Amino acid sequence: MFVDSHCHLTFPELASQLPQIREAMAQAGVDRALCICTTLEEFEEVHALAMRYDNFWASAGVHPDNEGIAEPTVDKLLELAARPKVVAIGETGLDYYQMDERKGGRSIADLEWQRDRFRTHIRAAHACRKPLIIHTRASSDDTIAILKEEGEDGSPGSAGGVFHCFTETAQVARAALDLGFYISFSGILTFKSAADLREVARFVPQDRLLIETDSPYLAPVPYRGKVNNPSYVPFVAKQVARAARHDHGSGGGAHQPQFRDAVQRREIMRNHLKFLLYLVLTIAFSSAHAGSYEDWFAALKRDDPRTISSCSSAVSMRTRSTRPAATACSSRCRTARCRPPRCWSPGPRPRWNGAAPRTKAR
Ligand SMILES: [Zn+2]
Ligand SMILES: [Zn+2]
Repeated sequence: MFVDSHCHLTFPELASQLPQIREAMAQAGVDRALCICTTLEEFEEVHALAMRYDNFWASAGVHPDNEGIAEPTVDKLLELAARPKVVAIGETGLDYYQMDERKGGRSIADLEWQRDRFRTHIRAAHACRKPLIIHTRASSDDTIAILKEEGEDGSPGSAGGVFHCFTETAQVARAALDLGFYISFSGILTFKSAADLREVARFVPQDRLLIETDSPYLAPVPYRGKVNNPSYVPFVAKQVARAARHDHGSGGGAHQPQFRDAVQRREIMRNHLKFLLYLVLTIAFSSAHAGSYEDWFAALKRDDPRTISSCSSAVSMRTRSTRPAATACSSRCRTARCRPPRCWSPGPRPRWNGAAPRTKAR
């Protein structure tokens, strides 16, 4: 049994194919689907599907990308949400993707209307106590911030819901999970280029993970590029199972603490690697310059050939120096301007006083 948690069966690519789609769903073992509303104008059609078929349900909401359509109010959403078989509010959220191409070169500040619309949906979800279907694209910081500002914190009074068609980082997944939301993956998870997303899927607890098609878009491999439909959702499930097996051996359930521990471990490891890299670079840099960087750099700036040539690294940097590198470590280097330790000639050898010689000089 599979459930497609997010599909658009009223879109023109699919609306006329419903009998074939339902047949394909039955064959593939997909026995439930949530039909998503993206405009108020579309709602009646979406709702009619849910009323006509036992295994379809509907949502009420306006997609953040839709402009020039009827703007929802809390009251209007509540009116629609009260209809039978309407089980969620959305899809709603924020979309800052490709501001030039898709938003006519406007800035994020210009999209206050999107954020207002999102808040309207959250308030409606609180009032009717139904979950939110969140669309977030290139806007995860604002999405999480607004949810928090509107009182979403995972407590019993929160609406909760799902971050649909998830394509964000593990940190965003963690923030969403901490707010009590589910994470839903689409066919994108099967794309060759989605290795990072599969890593995220590995750490989402199985009891907080949903699958969807977002059809007619984003058909999973092996149907990538074709028109998507709910009967393809098992391909997403298969990919999720593969990722979970990879992480948990027998496929045992992943839990929130495991997710947190894993993310924390990765963060600690990343910090260790950064420190190691810093250390290697520092050692490489200081050995390349054989002493105080500031001193020879100051000398370079002064362009003092005596001081510069006294430092072998500076000589190697300035191959046209008038003085050969062989003169580098003479006693004349002992000036206040030339401090690099390697340029200092050794002091007088200590006389042996009869004690056992030290094997290692400091
Ligand atoms: Zn969406
Ligand atoms: Zn959608």
